[in-house]
Amino acid sequence: MPLFERVTIVGVGLIGGSLGMALRARGLAREVVGVARAPETIVTARDRGAIDRGTVDPAFGVGGAELVVLATPPALVVPMARRVLPHLGRDAILTDVASVKAEIVRSVEALAPPGAAAFVGGHPMAGTEGRGIGAAAATLFDRAVYLLTPTERTPRGAVERMSALVRALGAVPVEMEPGEHDQAVARVSHLPYLIAAALMGVAQPGTPAAGAAGPAFLGATRVAGSPVELWAEICRLNRDAILSALGVFREELARFEGALASGTRFDALLETARQARLRLADARPAPGPAAGHTS
Ligand code: NAP
Repeated sequence: MPLFERVTIVGVGLIGGSLGMALRARGLAREVVGVARAPETIVTARDRGAIDRGTVDPAFGVGGAELVVLATPPALVVPMARRVLPHLGRDAILTDVASVKAEIVRSVEALAPPGAAAFVGGHPMAGTEGRGIGAAAATLFDRAVYLLTPTERTPRGAVERMSALVRALGAVPVEMEPGEHDQAVARVSHLPYLIAAALMGVAQPGTPAAGAAGPAFLGATRVAGSPVELWAEICRLNRDAILSALGVFREELARFEGALASGTRFDALLETARQARLRLADARPAPGPAAGHTS
């Protein structure tokens, strides 16, 4: 049963294309329209089942849409919102999927006059090191945490419709304040990316260490193979929160280094980490009503 008559996805790449595939595969929208930069992306997106039709004109593409998803690189979300907002009906919902939220949410809310379409910031905690429509998959959001960042200005009805969509995608909606989001993802997404990139420096290709790499090293560094352009942009946009997370990590690393060097409490530290990792899976919210804050 469709939740939306028409959904328009602006930016039909890894995330936008996966969303289109999931919407169509699960019958959640009667029509999915794609807005792309290049005509070839529209052809590939249609061939891959991500959209019903496409256009390179954002204003035309969002016409009559009940839900518009901005899935471009983060720096384009606000300019694209400025472009499409005048063409949205007052009952439409505008959302995005960008990995950084506070500045985007503040700017988009400042653009929208009273009575304009509701904006609900969003960020699916799903992805791969791939890029573009060729890397998209209908299963990308299965059991993923999907962060929603409403503010006191966001109509509750729009948040509830987004939560319902997230659940219908097989993901888990979790609400957070935009600033809290940026602090949290700095620790669990942006910091791990930087650590993976830094880890590559300790076992450069061609060295004996790299030749000995097994699943632990390959798994821990997988995300370092992601597109640099996107990640450099994310890191710049969330720089302060990431620097703060790096400080916390440096202290943690120093505790492990000190314990290994001195031989005191080393096993206990490792056991504490092991127990925390085991609890992590249990602590993840199950599919159902949105967890977290309800602002
Ligand atoms: P991506 O695969 O590179 O897709 C970005 C898409 O935006 C591409 O299809 C690109 O078109 C399109 N685009 C760029 N400029 C455009 C424009 N001016 N008009 C219309 N479309 C335009 O990147 P992605 O990984 O899906 O990331 C998209 C968003 O998702 C970002 O905001 C990112 O922060 C967020 N996100 C990413 C991940 C992840 O793991 N990658 C996870 C969660 C959230 P072309 O195909 O023509 O280049």
